[in-house]
Amino acid sequence: MTDFPDNLLEGYRDFRGGRFARERERYERLAKKGQKPTTLVIACCDSRAAPETIFNALPGEIFVVRNVANLVPPYSPQDNETHHATSAALEFAVQSLKVTDIIVLGHGRCGGVAAALDPNHEPLSPGDFIGRWMDLLKPVAKAVESHNHVCGGENHTVLERLSVCNSLTNLRSFPCVSVLEQKQRLRLHGAWFDISTGELWLLDEDAEIDEKTQLAHERFKLVE
Ligand SMILES: [Zn+2]
Repeated sequence: MTDFPDNLLEGYRDFRGGRFARERERYERLAKKGQKPTTLVIACCDSRAAPETIFNALPGEIFVVRNVANLVPPYSPQDNETHHATSAALEFAVQSLKVTDIIVLGHGRCGGVAAALDPNHEPLSPGDFIGRWMDLLKPVAKAVESHNHVCGGENHTVLERLSVCNSLTNLRSFPCVSVLEQKQRLRLHGAWFDISTGELWLLDEDAEIDEKTQLAHERFKLVE
């Protein structure tokens, strides 16, 4: 045998004899007819914030793209220098699967967001892929740091939530998203999961806030 991690093999055997066996018909139907998820979730790579677990999702139920800090880059079709993994997944979900809902799911204690706030961030390798990826969040990080009403300890959570808002803004820069949203055939949602309490907070984009003293993170409401 290979030196494949034992804990994963054990987990696989449990899955095969448990969930897979119980849901065999569903898997067979999905294999025959293909997937038809109605929701795209854009989530962080963090091992503690798996959307399938948080939403107790069935196989074939949600289409998931995960990247560091659940970021969506702005629409940039002319940029041939970069490989657009998140944009490609978005394009497939919207244009081919025709999902009706897109959820950007942020989470507490996000390492990627912490890196964006760290003025002494040291690259982990010469390519500094994390640093360059997190540049997407720099303008929002600056806004948080310069805001009078956010105290030091809150920065992290505030930025995690504003990052969700920023990703929604960037999502709407994709014509395929904004056109369908205007036609009310696609709904966008923001959410934030607290890994220490299991709480889920949803963004209410229509919630009234005082823009002078409040940032958009105050538009998140706890799910009862
Ligand atoms: Zn994260």
